Amino acid sequence: ANTVRLQALRAVEAYQPPAVSYTDTETPGQVFGENVFNRVVMQKRLPKSVYKSVMKTIEHGAPLDPMVADAVASAMKDWAIEKGATHYAHVFYPLTGLTAEKHDSFLEPVSDGSALAEFAGKTLIQGEPDASSFPNGGLRNTFEARGYTGWDVTSPAYVLENPNGNTLCIPTVFVSMTGEALDHKTGLLRSQQAMGRHAERILTLFGHEDPEHVVSFCGPEQEYFLVDRHFFLARPDLLNAGRTLFGAKPPKGQEFDDHYFGAIPERVLGFMMDTERELFKLGIPAKTRHNEVAPGQFEIAPMFERGNIAADHQQLLMTTFKTIAKKHGMEILFHEKPFEGVNGSGKHVNFSLGNSELGSLLVPGDTPHDNAQFLVFCAAVIRAVHKYAGLLRASVASATNDHRLGANEAPPAIISIFLGDQLADVFDQIAKGAATSSKGKGTMMIGADTLPVLPTDPGDRNRTSPFAFTGNRFEFRAPGSMQTVNEPMVVINTIMAESLDHMATELETAVADGVDFDTAVQNLLTQIITDHGAVVFNGDGYSENWPIEAEARGLANLRTTLDALPELITDEALALFSKYDVFNSREMHSRYEIGLEQYALTIGVEARLTLEMGTTIVLPAAVRYQTEVAQNLAALQAVGVEIDRAPLDTVSVPLAALRAGLATLKGALDADTGHDALGEATHARDALLPAMAEVRAAADQLEDIVADDLWPLPTYQEMLFVL
Ligand code: ADP
Ligand code: MG
Repeated sequence: ANTVRLQALRAVEAYQPPAVSYTDTETPGQVFGENVFNRVVMQKRLPKSVYKSVMKTIEHGAPLDPMVADAVASAMKDWAIEKGATHYAHVFYPLTGLTAEKHDSFLEPVSDGSALAEFAGKTLIQGEPDASSFPNGGLRNTFEARGYTGWDVTSPAYVLENPNGNTLCIPTVFVSMTGEALDHKTGLLRSQQAMGRHAERILTLFGHEDPEHVVSFCGPEQEYFLVDRHFFLARPDLLNAGRTLFGAKPPKGQEFDDHYFGAIPERVLGFMMDTERELFKLGIPAKTRHNEVAPGQFEIAPMFERGNIAADHQQLLMTTFKTIAKKHGMEILFHEKPFEGVNGSGKHVNFSLGNSELGSLLVPGDTPHDNAQFLVFCAAVIRAVHKYAGLLRASVASATNDHRLGANEAPPAIISIFLGDQLADVFDQIAKGAATSSKGKGTMMIGADTLPVLPTDPGDRNRTSPFAFTGNRFEFRAPGSMQTVNEPMVVINTIMAESLDHMATELETAVADGVDFDTAVQNLLTQIITDHGAVVFNGDGYSENWPIEAEARGLANLRTTLDALPELITDEALALFSKYDVFNSREMHSRYEIGLEQYALTIGVEARLTLEMGTTIVLPAAVRYQTEVAQNLAALQAVGVEIDRAPLDTVSVPLAALRAGLATLKGALDADTGHDALGEATHARDALLPAMAEVRAAADQLEDIVADDLWPLPTYQEMLFVL
């Protein structure tokens, strides 16, 4: 037999990775931001008044002065052409979660038959891609296909290199004719503005006169798998669904815990260094890289940046990774659960808020109990997460993330907050009246005199909590590895806006009523921790007892996407988003609809693939093996050996189960689902997923029985352990 799998194995063995593109003499600083139209470039190339005006918008959130657009466009065009750009593209983030670009040439024909490089202010500010091929969840009538992209001045333009010609990329928002958001970015900018405004009110109360513009910060940690491309191409499921729909557990899994922080394989290191160089050129501050828990799994964590820039950079990072992985003969898998029985991937969203003057407003200092300003911001988070846990859950809901949340490898679907010993103790004191002390930092003696004495953090780490305080920020650990960080960031910003608004109003009212400010803060903190302390949980989120305790505390456990999505359209959610001008009711409903559509589409594709692969790949292999066994028995019988039918039954029984499963799945795929989004999504969950599981169970059993040389699909063992 010469199966696709065996051909792939041979090709993998023969593969030679390419030479890396960096040189020994180059330092990261030399290339950092090389392809970015950043502050330095603007200062050099823009007239002083224009530069000042643009900076006012970027740094202080001032409205963009349309008069500067022509000057910026002209400088940007010259810069980009010097960098080899022939085209420009408005880059936007439609609700598919992907990145979209519309490319146009700089050259515009003129009447004498020649062409001129043109790029005017109006082309910089606004573009008009056809919106009809992007999901809109009812926001746009089909006869009105127009959508507009609008320049996001706060996110720098950059040149993307390509052997076929470079492109000037301009980050934009994407909205309908009526100004409703058709993308993930618009809501982020709006929510950031709302949160900033109310955070500034709190700062003013604490005596900061006319505080600097407050923004959200986001540091996304990205987990991913790498597989050799030969295997990838031999697996239609990886190719089309991003995850394996078949595959028996390997004899050796991750039980040895030998991969986490292990030495990075040479081939992967070459890929990482190449990628980082590209990211540096694009001004993306890639920083930490290490192996993750599962074999073949890795992580990258860029330095945190302003929310909307981090979000753009995160999308760009994912595309860059895909391109460079291919160059190194590998495919990168961002799917939340590419391999069953092996840890999946998440994207931790580290969140804080702050400004250039004060830094992060979530820094407790050594004695948090007397850092009232910190406690107010921290209490705002506690209140927001408790009150709007359902929205946070909905912001990470997808068919693919359902495989991971609550599976003892990622935080449970129950949203709670981890504060760590020190802060939990401070808030306990506040609940009883006033906080008068903070548990101090300890020291740790390692036992050998030559080793340094290490300070221990007063707040421990907790990897099982979905929303954990980690020293100067909160880490939201539930987002899926494949999704954009925009969705969780929009929700965090908006619920923080509401919490800060509430707290600022309470404090302003108390002070106006003559209450002393410190007393007002004290009373408010006590009130908040009393009302919302139930969301604080410092224990093990993976323990069996937690769901029971959480229920007693009144915390929701929205297990699947279909449980979570309705949170987007509750009266409370609609009122919240409209009050802070983030999304109107139509925009919220469209997000709900698209969530359902994407869920049904994802599972629909997987179901059809399962049917196809089961029928055309797994079944024939099993039948061939069954025939071999049968022929062997017949031959034995022919020479008079007394035969035992058991070996034949061993393959025939799961083979019958496979046939039955495929029939069930086909029936489920053919069923009429009523054709509304909720109906289709429900059918996907209740009929398609169970039928797929049935097919897979039989197929995985066969994988352990069928002769190795007949088995057509690269195995888990091969895909996970060859790098
Ligand atoms: P860990 O694996 O311990 O969670 P990493 O170093 O892998 O930590 O990632 C931490 C992430 O948090 C980085 O992206 C980092 O830049 C980011 N981060 C650090 N401080 C802040 C902050 N104040 N606000 C937002 N993100 C932050
Ligand atoms: Mg982390």
